[in-house]
Amino acid sequence: MRILVTGGAGFIGSHVLLALNNQGHTTSLIDDFNDFYAPSLKRWNAQNCGSILFEGDIRVKEDVERCFDLHQPEAVIHLAARAGVRPSLTQTQLYVDTNVTGTLNILEAMRSRHIKRLVFASSSSVYGCNKKVPFSESDPILKTISPYAATKVAGEHLCSVYSHLYGMSVVALRFFTVYGPRQRPDLAIHKFTRLINEGREISQFGDGTTRRDYTFIDDIVQGVLQSLSYTKDHSGLEVFNLGESRTVELRELISLIEDSLEIKAKIRKLPMQPGDVPLTYADITKSKELLGYNPQTPIEQGIQAFVSWFHEETKVISN
Ligand code: NAD
Repeated sequence: MRILVTGGAGFIGSHVLLALNNQGHTTSLIDDFNDFYAPSLKRWNAQNCGSILFEGDIRVKEDVERCFDLHQPEAVIHLAARAGVRPSLTQTQLYVDTNVTGTLNILEAMRSRHIKRLVFASSSSVYGCNKKVPFSESDPILKTISPYAATKVAGEHLCSVYSHLYGMSVVALRFFTVYGPRQRPDLAIHKFTRLINEGREISQFGDGTTRRDYTFIDDIVQGVLQSLSYTKDHSGLEVFNLGESRTVELRELISLIEDSLEIKAKIRKLPMQPGDVPLTYADITKSKELLGYNPQTPIEQGIQAFVSWFHEETKVISN
């Protein structure tokens, strides 16, 4: 099949593309290589995933149209977005333009070409300060507390509208903090590992008891591929959580990284950041039942895999 992955030069996208190529699909990617983090990392990902590159911006309708005309995808995995909660508080317009208008541009390009199958990257942040745990797909999502989360809610709603009006089959995946080799450098596991390794101080927001459901990249890739298969035989919008369904306290996470690096962290304690949620915790009953999703990598093993990759990467960069 011909599959387009938007944001394919990013962390999750590049892993998804490698897996799709291994399955024998013909893949292409659209990415604008913006400087949210080092574009050189994204360039490396794009050059090493074996896919056809279209350099363009999903906020620009003409770019999206040209990309679809050139690559003629039969299915789309839409991952391109401004990710991350904290910058969305100061760059709200950019987040809305990319995550909402950009998503609309993708849906419109699909509608006008009768492309029916879409997997959309949503986020656990849509649950906001949900009190009920674990979070399940049927929980109301009216408690979002960051602009980023609001753009993902809007994206899900646009997917719902287009699937309803134009007979598309859409899976929206609520990813729970994804980590692993090539993880975004702004995310805690990557940032902490780098700073601890350099003997520098890390900032711990809150008292260390905030809890997250961390999901290893291979498990996310498995869920994305299963979702793509799911769109073949279903119509309408279906929402799934992709997490490990286990929570880890921030201080426990730090000590796992310390153990893997064999270096003690210097910790600076700071107040909780606005927009950050105290807890994420995925109920994955539905994903297991309908997708056959079955995460395999416990955090202890995943952190070791991440730190091994980090050491290799550091060696390559310093040579
Ligand atoms: P990433 O930043 O590594 O990848 C996103 C890619 O999209 C980047 O390569 C970026 O250059 C590209 N992009 C951004 N704006 C664009 C634009 N206007 N036009 C074209 N390309 C553009 O992030 P990621 O961690 O791989 O996340 C992928 C998706 O998963 C995002 O939609 C994100 O919101 C979602 N998500 C990620 C996590 C996580 O923990 N990593 C959690 C929940 C949801």
